[in-house]
Amino acid sequence: MSSVGRLIVVSGPSGSGKGTILGEILKSPDYVYSVSATTRQPRQGEIDGKHYFFMQKTEFEERILQNGFIEYAEYNGNYYGTPVDFVNANLKNGKNVVLEIEVQGAMQIKKTIPDALFIFMTPESRTELEKRLRLRGSEDEQTIKRRLAIADRELSSSLLYDYVIFNEKGKQEKAVEDFFAAVRASALTPLHQYDRLKTYFYND
Ligand code: 5GP
Repeated sequence: MSSVGRLIVVSGPSGSGKGTILGEILKSPDYVYSVSATTRQPRQGEIDGKHYFFMQKTEFEERILQNGFIEYAEYNGNYYGTPVDFVNANLKNGKNVVLEIEVQGAMQIKKTIPDALFIFMTPESRTELEKRLRLRGSEDEQTIKRRLAIADRELSSSLLYDYVIFNEKGKQEKAVEDFFAAVRASALTPLHQYDRLKTYFYND
């Protein structure tokens, strides 16, 4: 059996609480989080190299030319991208690598790495999403409105993902369980068991 890890792509509206759920998942030593690069300004409390690699636009564009990203996208006026080296090294080491990225980037990966696992995470309603965005208190009204409009568009892309997880208020444990259930189920497809199926008749 192959010991290569899984690439797990997680998308969902900004403010959906993905970070909290992924924080729980990343307590498992089998999982690592891919820190993205971005050209947006750090929010209060964000640390370079931990939450993002914060970069100038010119540096980001140089990295694009050097094929330094698995995928990248422009979101709300800034670049975001997944550095290629970290992901490949960890997959090779058998780790499940979690990417938390928006929809355009996820769809790029769907073309280039179709056997990745695609999970869409969202609060139970638009009203709840808006509440969470406002509670975060880190953005002005205009940014919140823009993020809500993007979220509306993203929701319609959820059908392109393998699994949808509702991160409901007060039910975070269930969302975490659903995540592990999705990873487990996705490993049982014929494609992911191909090596085992191939050796089936010769293993007696
Ligand atoms: P935020 O500014 O709220 O941290 O992130 C905005 C959006 O960018 C979120 O949907 C987040 O998942 C997404 N994002 C973060 N890193 C990446 C990345 O490397 N690539 C892409 N395509 N999107 C990303």
